[in-house]
Amino acid sequence: MRSLLKSIWNKIRASQSLRSQVLLAIMLVGIAPTFILRYGILESYERRAVTVKTTEASQQLMIIANHLINYAYLQGSNSDVINAELSQISNLYDGRVLIINSNFKVLKDTYGISEGKTIISEEVIKCFLGETTSNYDQVHGYIEILTPIVSTTMSNLGQDAVDTGESMGVEGVMLTSVSTDSIARTLALLERQAQLLQIIMIVIIFVIAVLLSILLVRPFERVTQAINEVKGGFSNQPIEVDDYVETRHILEAFNQLLSRMRVIDESREEFVSNVSHELKTPLTSMKVLADSLVSQDEAPVELYREFMEDITKEIDRENAIINDLLALVKMDRTVGDLNVNRVDVNAMTELVLKRLRPIARKRDIEVTFESTRQVTADVDEVKMTMIISNLVENAIKYNHEHGWVKVVLDADHKEFTLSVSDSGVGIPEAAQDHIFERFYRVDKSHSREIGGTGLGLAITKNAVLMHRGAIKVSSKEGEGATFTVTVPLIYKA
Ligand code: ADP
Repeated sequence: MRSLLKSIWNKIRASQSLRSQVLLAIMLVGIAPTFILRYGILESYERRAVTVKTTEASQQLMIIANHLINYAYLQGSNSDVINAELSQISNLYDGRVLIINSNFKVLKDTYGISEGKTIISEEVIKCFLGETTSNYDQVHGYIEILTPIVSTTMSNLGQDAVDTGESMGVEGVMLTSVSTDSIARTLALLERQAQLLQIIMIVIIFVIAVLLSILLVRPFERVTQAINEVKGGFSNQPIEVDDYVETRHILEAFNQLLSRMRVIDESREEFVSNVSHELKTPLTSMKVLADSLVSQDEAPVELYREFMEDITKEIDRENAIINDLLALVKMDRTVGDLNVNRVDVNAMTELVLKRLRPIARKRDIEVTFESTRQVTADVDEVKMTMIISNLVENAIKYNHEHGWVKVVLDADHKEFTLSVSDSGVGIPEAAQDHIFERFYRVDKSHSREIGGTGLGLAITKNAVLMHRGAIKVSSKEGEGATFTVTVPLIYKA
Protein backbone atom coordinates (compact mmCIF):
# COMPACT_ATOMS: atom_id res chain seq x y z
CA MET A 1 0.00 0.00 0.00
CA ARG A 2 2.76 2.36 1.06
CA SER A 3 4.96 1.59 -1.96
CA LEU A 4 1.90 1.90 -4.22
CA LEU A 5 1.15 5.36 -2.82
CA LYS A 6 4.82 6.27 -3.14
CA SER A 7 4.97 5.21 -6.78
CA ILE A 8 1.74 7.11 -7.57
CA TRP A 9 3.18 10.20 -5.87
CA ASN A 10 6.48 9.84 -7.79
CA LYS A 11 4.60 9.49 -11.09
CA ILE A 12 2.57 12.62 -10.35
CA ARG A 13 5.72 14.52 -9.39
CA ALA A 14 7.49 13.30 -12.51
CA SER A 15 4.56 14.32 -14.71
CA GLN A 16 4.96 17.83 -13.26
CA SER A 17 1.32 18.38 -14.01
CA LEU A 18 -0.24 21.11 -11.91
CA ARG A 19 -3.64 19.53 -12.46
CA SER A 20 -2.56 16.12 -11.07
CA GLN A 21 -0.91 17.79 -8.11
CA VAL A 22 -3.99 19.88 -7.35
CA LEU A 23 -6.12 16.73 -7.71
CA LEU A 24 -3.88 14.80 -5.36
CA ALA A 25 -3.75 17.62 -2.82
CA ILE A 26 -7.55 17.95 -2.72
CA MET A 27 -7.96 14.17 -2.50
CA LEU A 28 -5.50 13.98 0.39
CA VAL A 29 -7.03 16.92 2.23
CA GLY A 30 -10.52 15.52 1.67
CA ILE A 31 -9.90 11.84 2.33
CA ALA A 32 -7.63 12.02 5.39
CA PRO A 33 -10.43 13.40 7.63
CA THR A 34 -12.78 10.58 6.58
CA PHE A 35 -10.29 8.03 7.95
CA ILE A 36 -9.75 10.07 11.10
CA LEU A 37 -13.52 10.36 11.59
CA ARG A 38 -14.13 6.69 10.93
CA TYR A 39 -11.49 5.34 13.27
CA GLY A 40 -12.00 8.12 15.83
CA ILE A 41 -15.75 7.49 16.14
CA LEU A 42 -15.43 3.70 16.24
CA GLU A 43 -12.64 3.85 18.78
CA SER A 44 -14.49 6.25 21.07
CA TYR A 45 -17.67 4.16 20.79
CA GLU A 46 -15.73 1.05 21.82
CA ARG A 47 -14.08 2.81 24.74
CA ARG A 48 -17.39 4.19 25.96
CA ALA A 49 -19.24 0.87 25.57
CA VAL A 50 -16.51 -0.98 27.52
CA THR A 51 -16.59 1.62 30.31
CA VAL A 52 -20.39 1.46 30.59
CA LYS A 53 -20.36 -2.32 30.63
CA THR A 54 -17.56 -2.43 33.23
CA THR A 55 -19.36 0.03 35.52
CA GLU A 56 -22.66 -1.76 35.17
CA ALA A 57 -21.13 -5.16 35.85
CA SER A 58 -19.03 -3.84 38.74
CA GLN A 59 -22.14 -2.48 40.44
CA GLN A 60 -23.94 -5.79 40.13
CA LEU A 61 -20.88 -7.67 41.32
CA MET A 62 -20.61 -5.42 44.33
CA ILE A 63 -24.18 -6.32 45.32
CA ILE A 64 -23.39 -9.99 44.94
CA ALA A 65 -20.22 -9.53 46.99
CA ASN A 66 -22.40 -8.16 49.82
CA HIS A 67 -24.68 -11.13 49.50
CA LEU A 68 -21.68 -13.44 49.75
CA ILE A 69 -20.72 -11.81 53.03
CA ASN A 70 -24.27 -11.92 54.32
CA TYR A 71 -24.62 -15.58 53.50
CA ALA A 72 -21.11 -16.32 54.85
CA TYR A 73 -20.42 -17.95 51.51
CA LEU A 74 -16.69 -17.73 52.00
CA GLN A 75 -16.95 -19.62 55.23
CA GLY A 76 -18.33 -22.60 53.35
CA SER A 77 -22.11 -22.11 53.47
CA ASN A 78 -22.78 -23.30 49.97
CA SER A 79 -25.97 -21.26 49.59
CA ASP A 80 -28.25 -22.17 46.68
CA VAL A 81 -29.48 -18.62 46.53
CA ILE A 82 -25.96 -17.38 45.95
CA ASN A 83 -25.17 -20.12 43.47
CA ALA A 84 -28.29 -19.18 41.53
CA GLU A 85 -27.31 -15.52 41.61
CA LEU A 86 -23.81 -16.38 40.40
CA SER A 87 -25.01 -18.51 37.52
CA GLN A 88 -27.55 -15.82 36.65
CA ILE A 89 -24.88 -13.18 36.44
CA SER A 90 -22.57 -15.42 34.46
CA ASN A 91 -25.42 -16.06 32.01
CA LEU A 92 -26.28 -12.38 31.89
CA TYR A 93 -22.76 -11.38 30.94
CA ASP A 94 -22.08 -14.52 28.97
CA GLY A 95 -19.03 -14.99 31.15
CA ARG A 96 -17.53 -16.74 34.11
CA VAL A 97 -17.39 -15.95 37.82
CA LEU A 98 -14.72 -17.27 40.18
CA ILE A 99 -14.91 -16.79 43.93
CA ILE A 100 -11.49 -16.87 45.56
CA ASN A 101 -11.08 -16.99 49.31
CA SER A 102 -8.28 -15.45 51.33
CA ASN A 103 -6.18 -18.58 50.83
CA PHE A 104 -6.28 -17.89 47.10
CA LYS A 105 -8.39 -20.99 46.68
CA VAL A 106 -11.21 -21.06 44.17
CA LEU A 107 -14.41 -21.73 46.09
CA LYS A 108 -16.73 -21.42 43.15
CA ASP A 109 -16.31 -21.42 39.38
CA THR A 110 -19.47 -21.02 37.33
CA TYR A 111 -17.78 -23.11 34.64
CA GLY A 112 -17.00 -25.71 37.28
CA ILE A 113 -13.45 -26.17 36.01
CA SER A 114 -11.16 -24.48 38.50
CA GLU A 115 -12.89 -25.19 41.81
CA GLY A 116 -10.39 -26.16 44.48
CA LYS A 117 -7.46 -24.75 42.55
CA THR A 118 -5.25 -21.94 43.80
CA ILE A 119 -4.94 -18.67 41.90
CA ILE A 120 -2.22 -16.25 42.83
CA SER A 121 -1.75 -13.36 40.45
CA GLU A 122 -0.74 -9.75 40.77
CA GLU A 123 -4.29 -8.57 40.14
CA VAL A 124 -5.74 -10.93 42.76
CA ILE A 125 -3.21 -9.74 45.34
CA LYS A 126 -3.99 -6.12 44.50
CA CYS A 127 -7.67 -6.88 44.89
CA PHE A 128 -7.08 -8.36 48.35
CA LEU A 129 -5.61 -4.96 49.21
CA GLY A 130 -9.04 -3.48 48.45
CA GLU A 131 -8.59 -2.35 44.87
CA THR A 132 -11.22 -3.08 42.22
CA THR A 133 -9.50 -3.61 38.88
CA SER A 134 -10.70 -4.27 35.39
CA ASN A 135 -8.91 -5.19 32.18
CA TYR A 136 -10.27 -5.14 28.69
CA ASP A 137 -8.91 -7.90 26.48
CA GLN A 138 -9.81 -6.76 23.00
CA VAL A 139 -8.26 -9.76 21.28
CA HIS A 140 -10.23 -12.40 23.19
CA GLY A 141 -13.30 -10.21 23.58
CA TYR A 142 -13.88 -9.94 27.32
CA ILE A 143 -13.50 -7.64 30.31
CA GLU A 144 -11.93 -9.10 33.43
CA ILE A 145 -13.24 -7.52 36.63
CA LEU A 146 -11.79 -8.23 40.06
CA THR A 147 -14.12 -7.21 42.89
CA PRO A 148 -13.01 -7.43 46.54
CA ILE A 149 -15.49 -9.16 48.83
CA VAL A 150 -15.40 -6.85 51.84
CA SER A 151 -16.99 -7.62 55.20
CA THR A 152 -19.26 -4.79 56.28
CA THR A 153 -18.19 -4.83 59.95
CA MET A 154 -14.86 -5.69 61.51
CA SER A 155 -16.58 -8.35 63.59
CA ASN A 156 -17.31 -10.17 60.39
CA LEU A 157 -13.62 -10.54 59.63
CA GLY A 158 -12.84 -14.17 59.11
CA GLN A 159 -10.06 -15.87 61.01
CA ASP A 160 -8.26 -16.56 57.73
CA ALA A 161 -8.23 -12.89 56.84
CA VAL A 162 -6.77 -12.01 60.20
CA ASP A 163 -4.12 -14.67 59.67
CA THR A 164 -3.09 -13.24 56.34
CA GLY A 165 -3.00 -9.78 57.87
CA GLU A 166 -5.90 -8.39 55.79
CA SER A 167 -6.65 -5.19 57.64
CA MET A 168 -9.21 -3.88 55.08
CA GLY A 169 -11.65 -6.65 55.78
CA VAL A 170 -11.23 -8.14 52.32
CA GLU A 171 -12.36 -11.70 52.74
CA GLY A 172 -12.19 -12.83 49.19
CA VAL A 173 -12.10 -11.84 45.54
CA MET A 174 -14.64 -12.22 42.77
CA LEU A 175 -12.90 -12.71 39.44
CA THR A 176 -15.42 -12.17 36.70
CA SER A 177 -14.97 -12.21 32.97
CA VAL A 178 -17.63 -10.35 31.06
CA SER A 179 -17.99 -11.08 27.37
CA THR A 180 -17.82 -8.10 25.01
CA ASP A 181 -19.32 -9.96 22.05
CA SER A 182 -22.30 -7.60 21.93
CA ILE A 183 -19.94 -4.60 21.75
CA ALA A 184 -17.97 -6.34 18.97
CA ARG A 185 -21.17 -7.03 17.05
CA THR A 186 -22.30 -3.41 17.28
CA LEU A 187 -18.79 -2.31 16.31
CA ALA A 188 -18.82 -4.54 13.25
CA LEU A 189 -22.17 -3.13 12.21
CA LEU A 190 -20.99 0.45 12.73
CA GLU A 191 -17.77 -0.36 10.87
CA ARG A 192 -19.75 -1.56 7.84
CA GLN A 193 -21.89 1.56 7.88
CA ALA A 194 -18.83 3.80 8.32
CA GLN A 195 -17.12 2.03 5.43
CA LEU A 196 -20.08 2.61 3.18
CA LEU A 197 -20.30 6.26 4.19
CA GLN A 198 -16.58 6.64 3.66
CA ILE A 199 -16.75 5.18 0.17
CA ILE A 200 -19.60 7.57 -0.70
CA MET A 201 -17.58 10.50 0.71
CA ILE A 202 -14.46 9.47 -1.22
CA VAL A 203 -16.44 9.30 -4.46
CA ILE A 204 -17.93 12.75 -3.81
CA ILE A 205 -14.49 14.17 -2.89
CA PHE A 206 -12.99 12.61 -6.03
CA VAL A 207 -15.62 14.21 -8.24
CA ILE A 208 -15.11 17.58 -6.50
CA ALA A 209 -11.31 17.21 -6.80
CA VAL A 210 -11.51 16.45 -10.53
CA LEU A 211 -13.84 19.39 -11.14
CA LEU A 212 -11.74 21.76 -9.02
CA SER A 213 -8.47 20.66 -10.59
CA ILE A 214 -9.93 21.33 -14.04
CA LEU A 215 -11.38 24.70 -13.01
CA LEU A 216 -8.31 25.86 -11.10
CA VAL A 217 -5.88 25.00 -13.86
CA ARG A 218 -8.04 26.31 -16.70
CA PRO A 219 -6.71 29.90 -16.51
CA PHE A 220 -3.19 28.57 -17.07
CA GLU A 221 -4.41 26.75 -20.15
CA ARG A 222 -5.90 30.02 -21.33
CA VAL A 223 -2.48 31.65 -20.77
CA THR A 224 -0.82 28.97 -22.91
CA GLN A 225 -3.49 29.35 -25.57
CA ALA A 226 -3.10 33.15 -25.58
CA ILE A 227 0.69 32.83 -25.84
CA ASN A 228 0.32 30.25 -28.61
CA GLU A 229 -1.86 32.65 -30.55
CA VAL A 230 0.89 35.26 -30.65
CA LYS A 231 3.58 32.72 -31.56
CA GLY A 232 3.15 33.51 -35.23
CA GLY A 233 3.78 37.24 -35.04
CA PHE A 234 3.86 40.17 -32.67
CA SER A 235 0.37 41.57 -32.45
CA ASN A 236 0.02 45.04 -30.97
CA GLN A 237 -2.74 43.87 -28.62
CA PRO A 238 -1.53 42.95 -25.15
CA ILE A 239 -2.87 39.56 -24.05
CA GLU A 240 -4.89 39.32 -20.85
CA VAL A 241 -6.14 36.48 -18.63
CA ASP A 242 -7.44 38.15 -15.49
CA ASP A 243 -8.67 35.09 -13.57
CA TYR A 244 -5.85 35.14 -11.03
CA VAL A 245 -3.31 37.67 -9.81
CA GLU A 246 -0.68 35.09 -10.80
CA THR A 247 -1.88 34.76 -14.40
CA ARG A 248 -2.07 38.55 -14.61
CA HIS A 249 1.54 38.80 -13.42
CA ILE A 250 2.72 36.15 -15.88
CA LEU A 251 1.03 37.93 -18.75
CA GLU A 252 2.22 41.36 -17.66
CA ALA A 253 5.77 40.05 -17.79
CA PHE A 254 5.03 38.32 -21.08
CA ASN A 255 3.52 41.49 -22.59
CA GLN A 256 6.60 43.45 -21.54
CA LEU A 257 8.80 40.83 -23.14
CA LEU A 258 6.62 40.93 -26.22
CA SER A 259 6.84 44.69 -26.62
CA ARG A 260 10.60 44.51 -26.04
CA MET A 261 10.84 41.85 -28.74
CA ARG A 262 8.69 43.99 -30.99
CA VAL A 263 11.14 46.87 -30.56
CA ILE A 264 14.10 44.55 -31.15
CA ASP A 265 12.41 43.15 -34.24
CA GLU A 266 11.74 46.61 -35.61
CA SER A 267 15.25 47.82 -34.87
CA ARG A 268 16.67 44.64 -36.44
CA GLU A 269 14.70 45.31 -39.61
CA GLU A 270 15.83 48.90 -39.59
CA PHE A 271 19.41 47.84 -38.94
CA VAL A 272 19.39 45.37 -41.84
CA SER A 273 17.98 47.96 -44.22
CA ASN A 274 20.52 50.53 -42.96
CA VAL A 275 23.41 48.08 -43.39
CA SER A 276 22.36 47.20 -46.92
CA HIS A 277 21.96 50.85 -47.77
CA GLU A 278 25.33 51.81 -46.28
CA LEU A 279 27.11 48.94 -47.99
CA LYS A 280 25.44 49.70 -51.30
CA THR A 281 26.43 53.37 -51.39
CA PRO A 282 30.19 52.83 -51.97
CA LEU A 283 29.37 50.05 -54.46
CA THR A 284 27.08 52.38 -56.42
CA SER A 285 29.78 55.06 -56.51
CA MET A 286 32.34 52.51 -57.70
CA LYS A 287 29.97 51.26 -60.38
CA VAL A 288 29.30 54.82 -61.62
CA LEU A 289 33.04 55.51 -61.77
CA ALA A 290 33.83 52.25 -63.51
CA ASP A 291 30.92 52.61 -65.95
CA SER A 292 31.99 56.08 -66.98
CA LEU A 293 35.52 54.82 -67.66
CA VAL A 294 34.22 51.84 -69.65
CA SER A 295 31.85 54.01 -71.71
CA GLN A 296 34.68 56.26 -72.87
CA ASP A 297 36.62 54.69 -75.72
CA GLU A 298 39.84 56.48 -75.15
CA ALA A 299 39.85 57.91 -71.68
CA PRO A 300 43.02 59.71 -70.72
CA VAL A 301 45.35 58.05 -68.22
CA GLU A 302 44.89 61.00 -65.78
CA LEU A 303 41.16 60.31 -65.72
CA TYR A 304 41.83 56.62 -65.07
CA ARG A 305 44.16 57.54 -62.21
CA GLU A 306 41.70 59.99 -60.70
CA PHE A 307 38.78 57.56 -60.93
CA MET A 308 40.86 54.67 -59.59
CA GLU A 309 41.84 56.83 -56.60
CA ASP A 310 38.13 57.54 -56.00
CA ILE A 311 37.35 53.83 -56.28
CA THR A 312 40.12 53.06 -53.77
CA LYS A 313 38.57 55.59 -51.35
CA GLU A 314 35.19 53.88 -51.73
CA ILE A 315 36.79 50.49 -51.09
CA ASP A 316 38.42 51.89 -47.93
CA ARG A 317 35.07 53.21 -46.83
CA GLU A 318 33.36 49.88 -47.47
CA ASN A 319 36.13 48.28 -45.44
CA ALA A 320 35.67 50.74 -42.57
CA ILE A 321 31.94 50.05 -42.46
CA ILE A 322 32.47 46.30 -42.45
CA ASN A 323 35.11 46.56 -39.70
CA ASP A 324 32.85 48.71 -37.52
CA LEU A 325 29.93 46.37 -38.12
CA LEU A 326 32.04 43.39 -37.13
CA ALA A 327 33.19 45.20 -33.97
CA LEU A 328 29.58 45.99 -33.09
CA VAL A 329 28.26 42.49 -33.75
CA LYS A 330 31.13 40.98 -31.81
CA MET A 331 30.36 43.23 -28.84
CA ASP A 332 26.67 42.32 -28.98
CA ARG A 333 27.48 38.66 -28.96
CA THR A 334 30.02 38.80 -26.15
CA VAL A 335 28.05 40.89 -23.70
CA GLY A 336 29.72 40.65 -20.31
CA ASP A 337 32.81 39.15 -21.86
CA LEU A 338 35.15 41.83 -20.57
CA ASN A 339 38.82 41.29 -19.99
CA VAL A 340 38.98 43.41 -16.86
CA ASN A 341 42.30 44.45 -15.33
CA ARG A 342 43.53 47.11 -12.98
CA VAL A 343 44.58 49.85 -15.42
CA ASP A 344 46.27 53.25 -15.03
CA VAL A 345 43.66 55.38 -16.81
CA ASN A 346 45.91 58.48 -16.94
CA ALA A 347 48.65 56.63 -18.76
CA MET A 348 46.15 54.99 -21.09
CA THR A 349 44.60 58.36 -22.03
CA GLU A 350 48.04 59.90 -22.60
CA LEU A 351 48.87 57.05 -24.97
CA VAL A 352 45.66 57.52 -27.01
CA LEU A 353 46.26 61.27 -27.25
CA LYS A 354 49.87 60.72 -28.32
CA ARG A 355 48.62 58.58 -31.20
CA LEU A 356 45.94 61.08 -32.26
CA ARG A 357 47.87 64.35 -31.88
CA PRO A 358 49.58 64.05 -35.32
CA ILE A 359 46.13 63.83 -36.97
CA ALA A 360 44.93 66.87 -34.99
CA ARG A 361 48.07 68.77 -35.85
CA LYS A 362 47.26 68.46 -39.57
CA ARG A 363 44.30 70.80 -38.95
CA ASP A 364 46.09 72.79 -36.30
CA ILE A 365 43.87 71.52 -33.53
CA GLU A 366 45.34 71.62 -30.05
CA VAL A 367 44.69 68.55 -27.90
CA THR A 368 45.14 69.01 -24.12
CA PHE A 369 44.85 66.64 -21.18
CA GLU A 370 43.99 67.65 -17.64
CA SER A 371 43.95 65.41 -14.64
CA THR A 372 43.89 66.38 -11.00
CA ARG A 373 44.53 62.90 -9.68
CA GLN A 374 45.98 59.55 -10.57
CA VAL A 375 43.19 57.16 -11.56
CA THR A 376 43.43 53.40 -11.61
CA ALA A 377 40.31 51.38 -12.36
CA ASP A 378 39.06 47.90 -13.29
CA VAL A 379 38.55 48.20 -17.04
CA ASP A 380 39.04 46.28 -20.26
CA GLU A 381 42.10 48.05 -21.65
CA VAL A 382 41.29 47.46 -25.34
CA LYS A 383 37.68 48.60 -25.02
CA MET A 384 38.48 51.61 -22.84
CA THR A 385 41.18 52.67 -25.33
CA MET A 386 38.58 52.38 -28.11
CA ILE A 387 36.10 54.52 -26.12
CA ILE A 388 38.65 57.31 -25.60
CA SER A 389 39.92 57.20 -29.19
CA ASN A 390 36.41 57.26 -30.70
CA LEU A 391 35.47 60.32 -28.64
CA VAL A 392 38.72 62.18 -29.29
CA GLU A 393 38.67 61.22 -33.00
CA ASN A 394 35.12 62.63 -33.28
CA ALA A 395 36.18 65.78 -31.43
CA ILE A 396 38.93 66.25 -34.00
CA LYS A 397 36.78 65.22 -37.00
CA TYR A 398 33.87 67.53 -36.20
CA ASN A 399 36.12 70.47 -35.29
CA HIS A 400 37.16 73.65 -37.09
CA GLU A 401 40.70 74.37 -38.22
CA HIS A 402 42.79 75.91 -35.39
CA GLY A 403 40.29 74.58 -32.86
CA TRP A 404 40.95 72.74 -29.59
CA VAL A 405 40.10 69.47 -27.89
CA LYS A 406 40.21 69.20 -24.10
CA VAL A 407 40.28 65.88 -22.27
CA VAL A 408 39.65 65.98 -18.48
CA LEU A 409 40.01 63.00 -16.17
CA ASP A 410 38.65 63.08 -12.61
CA ALA A 411 37.45 60.57 -10.01
CA ASP A 412 35.74 60.25 -6.65
CA HIS A 413 35.83 57.22 -4.37
CA LYS A 414 33.36 55.29 -6.56
CA GLU A 415 33.84 56.20 -10.20
CA PHE A 416 36.00 58.07 -12.64
CA THR A 417 34.79 60.62 -15.17
CA LEU A 418 36.39 61.31 -18.52
CA SER A 419 35.11 64.26 -20.48
CA VAL A 420 36.06 65.19 -24.04
CA SER A 421 35.19 68.74 -25.07
CA ASP A 422 35.79 70.41 -28.40
CA SER A 423 35.40 73.73 -30.13
CA GLY A 424 33.74 72.13 -33.13
CA VAL A 425 30.46 72.28 -35.00
CA GLY A 426 28.37 71.02 -32.10
CA ILE A 427 25.28 68.84 -32.27
CA PRO A 428 21.75 70.20 -32.73
CA GLU A 429 19.47 69.56 -29.72
CA ALA A 430 17.10 67.30 -31.69
CA ALA A 431 19.98 65.09 -32.88
CA GLN A 432 21.47 64.58 -29.43
CA ASP A 433 19.05 61.76 -28.59
CA HIS A 434 19.97 59.88 -31.78
CA ILE A 435 23.73 60.15 -32.16
CA PHE A 436 24.27 56.86 -30.27
CA GLU A 437 22.04 54.97 -32.72
CA ARG A 438 23.64 52.83 -35.37
CA PHE A 439 24.27 54.66 -38.68
CA TYR A 440 22.87 57.93 -37.35
CA ARG A 441 24.79 60.95 -38.60
CA VAL A 442 23.83 64.58 -38.18
CA ASP A 443 25.23 65.67 -41.51
CA LYS A 444 25.42 62.62 -43.76
CA SER A 445 27.47 64.13 -46.55
CA HIS A 446 29.97 65.84 -44.22
CA SER A 447 30.38 62.70 -42.15
CA ARG A 448 30.86 60.64 -45.33
CA GLU A 449 33.44 63.10 -46.56
CA ILE A 450 35.51 62.72 -43.43
CA GLY A 451 35.18 58.96 -43.43
CA GLY A 452 32.50 58.48 -40.76
CA THR A 453 30.42 55.30 -40.72
CA GLY A 454 27.81 56.37 -38.17
CA LEU A 455 28.75 53.40 -36.01
CA GLY A 456 31.50 54.91 -33.80
CA LEU A 457 29.24 56.25 -31.02
CA ALA A 458 27.06 53.11 -31.05
CA ILE A 459 30.20 51.02 -30.48
CA THR A 460 31.42 53.47 -27.81
CA LYS A 461 28.12 53.40 -25.92
CA ASN A 462 28.05 49.60 -26.01
CA ALA A 463 31.55 49.41 -24.56
CA VAL A 464 30.68 51.93 -21.80
CA LEU A 465 27.55 49.98 -20.84
CA MET A 466 29.59 46.79 -20.68
CA HIS A 467 31.67 48.51 -17.99
CA ARG A 468 28.40 49.33 -16.12
CA GLY A 469 29.10 52.98 -16.93
CA ALA A 470 27.15 55.82 -18.55
CA ILE A 471 27.76 58.22 -21.41
CA LYS A 472 26.08 61.56 -22.04
CA VAL A 473 26.47 64.50 -24.33
CA SER A 474 25.94 68.22 -23.91
CA SER A 475 26.23 70.53 -26.84
CA LYS A 476 24.92 73.61 -28.57
CA GLU A 477 24.92 73.78 -32.32
CA GLY A 478 27.96 75.74 -33.52
CA GLU A 479 29.50 75.90 -30.04
CA GLY A 480 31.27 72.58 -29.73
CA ALA A 481 30.29 69.46 -27.78
CA THR A 482 31.22 67.72 -24.54
CA PHE A 483 30.96 63.93 -24.16
CA THR A 484 31.16 62.68 -20.57
CA VAL A 485 31.86 59.05 -19.71
CA THR A 486 31.42 57.79 -16.11
CA VAL A 487 32.73 54.34 -15.18
CA PRO A 488 32.85 52.60 -11.75
CA LEU A 489 36.39 52.20 -10.37
CA ILE A 490 35.60 48.64 -9.30
CA TYR A 491 33.92 46.44 -11.87
CA LYS A 492 30.87 44.51 -10.69
CA ALA A 493 29.94 41.64 -12.99
P1 ADP B 1 30.65 58.87 -37.50
O1 ADP B 1 31.40 57.69 -37.96
O2 ADP B 1 29.73 59.43 -38.50
O3 ADP B 1 31.49 59.87 -36.80
P2 ADP B 1 29.62 58.43 -34.86
O4 ADP B 1 28.68 57.39 -34.37
O5 ADP B 1 30.95 58.49 -34.24
O6 ADP B 1 29.66 58.24 -36.41
O7 ADP B 1 28.90 59.80 -34.65
C1 ADP B 1 27.56 59.97 -35.04
C2 ADP B 1 27.30 61.37 -35.41
O8 ADP B 1 27.34 62.21 -34.25
C3 ADP B 1 28.32 61.94 -36.34
O9 ADP B 1 27.98 61.67 -37.67
C4 ADP B 1 28.25 63.40 -36.04
O10 ADP B 1 27.23 64.00 -36.79
C5 ADP B 1 27.88 63.47 -34.59
N1 ADP B 1 29.04 63.70 -33.71
C6 ADP B 1 29.75 62.82 -33.06
N2 ADP B 1 30.70 63.40 -32.31
C7 ADP B 1 30.61 64.73 -32.52
C8 ADP B 1 31.31 65.88 -32.04
N3 ADP B 1 32.34 65.80 -31.20
N4 ADP B 1 30.91 67.10 -32.49
C9 ADP B 1 29.86 67.19 -33.33
N5 ADP B 1 29.16 66.16 -33.81
C10 ADP B 1 29.53 64.93 -33.42
